[in-house]
Amino acid sequence: MPSGPPPLSRIELVTIGDELLLGFTIDSNAAHIARELAAIGVKVVRRATVGDDTAEIASAVQAALDRTGAVITTGGLGPTSDDLTKPAIAQLFGRSMHVDEAHVLWMEDRWQRRFGRSLPLANRRQAMIPDGARVLENRHGSAPGIWLEDDSGRWVAMLPGVPREMRGMMADVLLPTLAERAMVGGATVVRSRTLRTTGVAESLLADNIDSMDGEPLGASLAYLPSIDGVDLRLTVHDLPPDEADAVIAIAASRLVSRVGGAVYGEQDADLAAIVLELCRSRNDTIGIGESCTGGMLGARLTAIPGSSDVFRGGAVTYHDDLKESLLGVSTDSLARHGAVSEAVVRQMAAGARRIAGASIGLAITGVAGPTGGTEEKPVGTVWIGVDFRGDVHARLLNAWGDRQENRYRATQATLELLRHLLQSPAETAVG
Ligand code: ATP
Repeated sequence: MPSGPPPLSRIELVTIGDELLLGFTIDSNAAHIARELAAIGVKVVRRATVGDDTAEIASAVQAALDRTGAVITTGGLGPTSDDLTKPAIAQLFGRSMHVDEAHVLWMEDRWQRRFGRSLPLANRRQAMIPDGARVLENRHGSAPGIWLEDDSGRWVAMLPGVPREMRGMMADVLLPTLAERAMVGGATVVRSRTLRTTGVAESLLADNIDSMDGEPLGASLAYLPSIDGVDLRLTVHDLPPDEADAVIAIAASRLVSRVGGAVYGEQDADLAAIVLELCRSRNDTIGIGESCTGGMLGARLTAIPGSSDVFRGGAVTYHDDLKESLLGVSTDSLARHGAVSEAVVRQMAAGARRIAGASIGLAITGVAGPTGGTEEKPVGTVWIGVDFRGDVHARLLNAWGDRQENRYRATQATLELLRHLLQSPAETAVG
C-alpha cells in the first residue's frame, strides 16, 4: 500500500455468491462488516450482491470503485470452480495472476499437519494471486484474502465467503488497517448500545419514554421488538470515540431512569442467564413444573453454562394425573378450575419447589395452540407461577402467536416474574 492514503470514511460492499441471490444463504457477512466498520467511523454507503459470474462481479466492483474507490468483497475465493472473484478483479486492475509459492508451502504444511495428506490440486488455485496484490493472512481457513490497490489509492479487499473465516480476517487484518486509515484527519465513530426489555408492549414503552420530562436522550433510539421482548437501541453518530462513549453512557442512564424496571440486560443478554446469576448471588435454587412448555424452561436454564449450582430439576407434567401424582395438584382443583388455571399453577409451583428441594419453584400451564382453545380459555391463555421461598405468585399471560412463540413467551414471562421478585426493593434490602 502506498504511504499517505487519503482519510477513509466511505466504503462499498459487494457480496458474491449464487446462494445469496437464490435466498438459500442470508447475507450475514454484509451486516457484520457494516457494524464493524461503523464502530471505527467508516460508513458503508452502498451494498450490492452478485452471483458467481465474472462479468457481474467485474461490473459491480468497477461501479463501486468509480463511486467510492474503497470496496470490500466477500465470497468466491475458495478452491471450487465457481470461485471467480480474484481473476475478475485482477482484470479490472489490469493485473495478471501468479502462484504465490509461499502460500502453497503454507497450505501444504497445513494439510499435512491437519489431515496427514498432500494438498489437493484444487487448493493450488487458492494460491493464485494478482500481481502486486498483498495477501491478507487467513488464520481460520485456507483461502487467503487479497488486497489490491492501484496507483491512485483505489482499492479492493477480497475476503472469503465463509462467515467464520471472513470475521476472523476482518478482526485480525483488515480492521486494524482500515482503522488506521480512518484515523487520518481525526476519526469519528458510530456507537450503539442495546437495553433489553420484556413484558412491556412497545407502545407503552414509547409512551413512557416520550411523556417523561427532562433532558433529551442525546442519542437516536430504535425500538426492536422480537419474541424476547423489545430491545431499545441507542446510537450516536459522527463523534470522536471518547465523546461517543460518554454521550451513549448518559443516554443509557436517562433511558433506564424512564423505563427502569423493564430493562433486564444489555446487548444480547439472555434472561435465563440473568436470573441464574441473581439466584446464585442470593443462594437461591430453582425447581420447575412445566406443562405446555414441555421442558422448554428447563432447557433454557440448562443451556447456560454453570447452571447446575442453581437449577435442581423438576417435572414435565403434561397429563393431569402427573400434575397430581408428581406435583401434588389436587383432583378437586383440576376438576373445578381445569388444568389451565390460577389454582392449578399455584399448586404446580409449590410442588416444583418441594420435589426439587429448592427455594424457588417455577410453573407453567397453558393452551399453546393451535387447537385446544375455548371461548373462556382461548389459545395463548397461559398461567405462570412462582413459589418464591414459600410465597406463591401467579400471573395470567395472554400470549399471541403460534405454538412455539406462545411456549417461548411463557418461559420468558416466568423468568421475568422471577427476576422482578429477586430484584424487588424488599428483596434487595434483605439481599
Ligand atoms: P470456499 O473456500 O468455501 O469456496 P469462498 O470464499 O469461495 O469459500 P463461497 O464459496 O462464496 O466462499 O461461500 C462459502 C460459504 O460461505 C457458502 O456456502 C455460504 O454458506 C457462506 N457465505 C458466502 N457468502 C456469505 C454471505 N455474504 N453471508 C453469509 N454467508 C455467506
